[in-house]
Amino acid sequence: MIVIKSPSEIRLMREAGRILGLALQAVRRKIAPGVTTAELDACAEEIIRSGGAVPTFQGVTQYEGQPPFPGTITASVNSELVHGIPSSRKLAGGDIISVDCGVTYKGYVADAAFSAPVGQISPSARLLLEVTEQALAIGIDMLRPGNRTGDVSHAIQEYVEKRGHSVVREYTGHGVGRSMWEPPQVPNYGTAGRGPELRAGMTIALEPMVNQGAPATRVLPDQWTVATRDGRLCAHFEHTVLVTEGDPVVLTVP
Ligand code: MG
Ligand code: MG
Repeated sequence: MIVIKSPSEIRLMREAGRILGLALQAVRRKIAPGVTTAELDACAEEIIRSGGAVPTFQGVTQYEGQPPFPGTITASVNSELVHGIPSSRKLAGGDIISVDCGVTYKGYVADAAFSAPVGQISPSARLLLEVTEQALAIGIDMLRPGNRTGDVSHAIQEYVEKRGHSVVREYTGHGVGRSMWEPPQVPNYGTAGRGPELRAGMTIALEPMVNQGAPATRVLPDQWTVATRDGRLCAHFEHTVLVTEGDPVVLTVP
């Protein structure tokens, strides 16, 4: 069942989103050649905890036997798409990094991600970031009552493919709030007119994942990091968005 959030639940999600927005803003400012992904992780954790919230990703497992996720953020570099484990790896000029993070505030979750350049990057990497961020903007604009999830999925896929890139199939956008994953799933590909109808009060974490090459991904031996199968670059942008009778409202901003 898709949860319609009450005004008091939305207030808590706004606060979760605000704290997450602050944390991601701070991480973004810290990104530079020579900085480690563990340093970015510590920066996010400090801001989240000083806001009276909890890093949602810490200790998460997706299946039995998977080691619990140790970080506050997932930090994924170049051909890594999502779920990279923060480490002593130093960023280098020309890299792109994708940072995903969740915040739980008084039991309510917000989820957001961005990809960013490290120093100077190639024109093709810059285009990838631009296409992915714009795909998120296009998707957000479709999060309106009466539209179906398939309308959102279709709009994202159509835009990304028109610009010569591909969308990942294995991971999708999703409802969010009382937990990190709620129905409905909102894939980044699909057919217009299909899927559940959107209604005011739904909260959706929309997250285009875009590859320069083929859409296929694989999980690395650390059992967490997801990378493109062809080794080419990929990017990921995400916001938690409230569907309203008016314009969609992005909750994950400072
Ligand atoms: Mg996320
Ligand atoms: Mg998400």
